[in-house]
Amino acid sequence: MSLDNLRDLYQQVILERYKKPRNRGKTDPIDRYQKGHNPSCGDTIEITLHLTASENGAGDRIEDVKFEGEGCAIAMASADLMADALRGKTTTEALEMVQKFQSMMRGEAEFPQELRKLNVMQGVAQFPVRIKCANLSWHTLRAAIELAQNAEPAGFVSNE
Ligand code: ZN
Repeated sequence: MSLDNLRDLYQQVILERYKKPRNRGKTDPIDRYQKGHNPSCGDTIEITLHLTASENGAGDRIEDVKFEGEGCAIAMASADLMADALRGKTTTEALEMVQKFQSMMRGEAEFPQELRKLNVMQGVAQFPVRIKCANLSWHTLRAAIELAQNAEPAGFVSNE
């Protein structure tokens, strides 16, 4: 497949996910909640997580992930693909995926076979102004997991 065709394929998947997201809404129950904002494009996102107990009872496995938000196709498609990829993962694995995604946006990594759908977002790395759009949902997810101990809601996280 030529590079141009590959780029078209990436764009098709992003537009398809933008028009017909599979993971919009809120989880029930909501165990984690975080809003995120990307001022450079105006994208906003709300991530909710439902966690279930793992084998050792730590309660850190992601049973369900949903998002709501307004923004560009890249931000919304990235959130939708992220939600698919996170189901069944532990929060520790999810944080590793955040790092991997951010490395991919710097052109330094890609996801292994079982998570290859996320590699669709690789094309965005060629457009530096859009990288923050693709990163927004992952950035917000990290805050949802890491800020979990805070008693007070954290408000918006910004990726500026
Ligand atoms: Zn955007």
